[in-house]
Amino acid sequence: MSNSSLVRYTKISPNKTSPRNHAIDTITIHCMAGNLTVETCGNVFAPTSRQASSNYGIGSDGRIAMYVEEKDRSWCTSNRANDMRAVTIEVANDGGANTGWHVSDKALASLLNLVEDICKRNGIKKLVWSESKNDRVNHLNGCNMTVHRDYAAKACPGDYLYKLHGWIAQEVNKRLGAGSDSPAVTPTPTTGAFKVRVSITDLNIRAGAGTDTARKGVIKPGVYTIVEVKSGKGSKTGWGKLKSGAGWISLDYAKKV
Ligand SMILES: [Zn+2]
Repeated sequence: MSNSSLVRYTKISPNKTSPRNHAIDTITIHCMAGNLTVETCGNVFAPTSRQASSNYGIGSDGRIAMYVEEKDRSWCTSNRANDMRAVTIEVANDGGANTGWHVSDKALASLLNLVEDICKRNGIKKLVWSESKNDRVNHLNGCNMTVHRDYAAKACPGDYLYKLHGWIAQEVNKRLGAGSDSPAVTPTPTTGAFKVRVSITDLNIRAGAGTDTARKGVIKPGVYTIVEVKSGKGSKTGWGKLKSGAGWISLDYAKKV
């Protein structure tokens, strides 16, 4: 079990159960109910008398901290079984109770990055949120997001974050490639080079197999030799590597000749 490489500050809390007894399959997002920096939150979780901790914390400046390693159970959600299987994340609030414990856009952006990273490293293929507490606490219908208010008489994670849970799941799932209507197409493996005809005038050349790699220019219409095919973002047919070494083009716009 690894920890997130997005962490910028670490202060391990003694308040934990080591190791956790369940694989990580749940995300529990909390609010700090205050605008704590990641350092201050670390200090709050430092004394054993506090009897509380979280795996991660996020400040309003967007910085991510770790207080309990993922291999260990944090003492965060007032529920042993939940915290044995969940990664818990405390998020700082730049607004008070009257704002539903608002969080900054920077903190929210970091939260998406962190949750995406946790899912990827722990094999969580899709985040599932439910408005039903029964679904959440019993992990029904694939539900794998829980909240502190499910287990204790608390406002946590605050109405602001609570209402964003469905959106958080949706945004993270886009990044995980889950929940999309069009499943990724695996290109047919090709042996050896082949020629394609490009007839459009504005086809981008990319540094790698995907629209998420750098654009290196535009290819002129003509016949080109492709030496390798890979699947990648932004192309249904796959990406073809140009023999010239100029880069990769989407084969959606190139016909085999
Ligand atoms: Zn909480």
